[in-house]
Amino acid sequence: MNPLLNPLPERLTPADAEAERLLRPPTFLEFFGQERAIENLRVFIAAARQRGEALDHVLLHGPPGLGKTTLAHIIANELHVNIRVTSGPVLERPADLAGLLTSLQLRDVLFIDEIHRLNATVEEYLYAAMEDFRIDILLESGPNARAVQLRLEPFTLVGATTRSGLLSAPLRSRFGITARLDYYSPEVLQQILHRSARILQTPLEAAAAAEIARRSRGTPRIANALLRRVRDFAQVKGEGTITHEISRTALDALLVDEHGLDEMDNRILLTIIEKFKGGPVGLNTIATAVGEDPGTIEEVYEPFLIQEGYLKRTTRGREATDRAYQHLGKIRPQSGRLFS
Ligand code: ADP
Repeated sequence: MNPLLNPLPERLTPADAEAERLLRPPTFLEFFGQERAIENLRVFIAAARQRGEALDHVLLHGPPGLGKTTLAHIIANELHVNIRVTSGPVLERPADLAGLLTSLQLRDVLFIDEIHRLNATVEEYLYAAMEDFRIDILLESGPNARAVQLRLEPFTLVGATTRSGLLSAPLRSRFGITARLDYYSPEVLQQILHRSARILQTPLEAAAAAEIARRSRGTPRIANALLRRVRDFAQVKGEGTITHEISRTALDALLVDEHGLDEMDNRILLTIIEKFKGGPVGLNTIATAVGEDPGTIEEVYEPFLIQEGYLKRTTRGREATDRAYQHLGKIRPQSGRLFS
């Protein structure tokens, strides 16, 4: 497995996590791409500020590494309020949530990453907090138990999820604003890379930025991680500047696929081609064959493979395209129609 190409945040090294903070754009001006989502958010933020109200709750969804956490911070910055950050699995008990909610000041942002992983009890408490800015707390237990209602300051919940399909309907309906993030084009990734290189004080040639961008799986997190590794090569094997040649050598040495596909992407395609004659084959069957969760395949891997033209989703299942065959150096078997 090539960890460099894995967009899942839990697989980041501590140094990468630190670099992410350093490279995180603080304002919309430095956040490139995702124009539609950004345009709408700007309007909603300006309107909320003019009215002096808390911004409506915002749900951000899309594959990992595309900027959901970054946007949550930008939203708080642009609203001139504080942000509190947590995540679904961390909020184990209603008391964990109550503690956070009661610490919020007027119009603050509460960011809950991986909001699809909230447990059902905590989620129920969140409903009242989102809707009426109140929370019911149960004091003591057994016969002396009594519920106390706490009023909260109006706040904005920003939820992020890679798995919007797993969000319950009642939770989803409580978000006034929903924004979907898509994979980035190589051109936008180049802009991001040039900005990151400036912050890291590393000269980066345009052709090198294009090379890294092309191999980054449409994902800023991967682009930035690759940039830092390539910079090491430039420092040790070159003269500090990331030239096109250095970027090619480094990326090859790092075993980064020419097209930025990661090992699981390739394994999915290879499985469909080798075990299922190129498809069509059902999602669950693919998932079992590659040993990955079907939901993760559907929401993390498939969108990129479809966007890049390696995979087709049909009513009968998933099919590998000609591009997938070419990419893996395989020859598509003759169509059965020849013999029918
Ligand atoms: P997510 O929360 O969706 O997994 P993050 O917000 O943590 O992704 O982004 C991962 C990294 O990519 C961060 O270092 C961030 O600075 C960078 N990044 C993401 N989107 C952009 C963008 N549009 N412009 C510049 N940098 C970005």
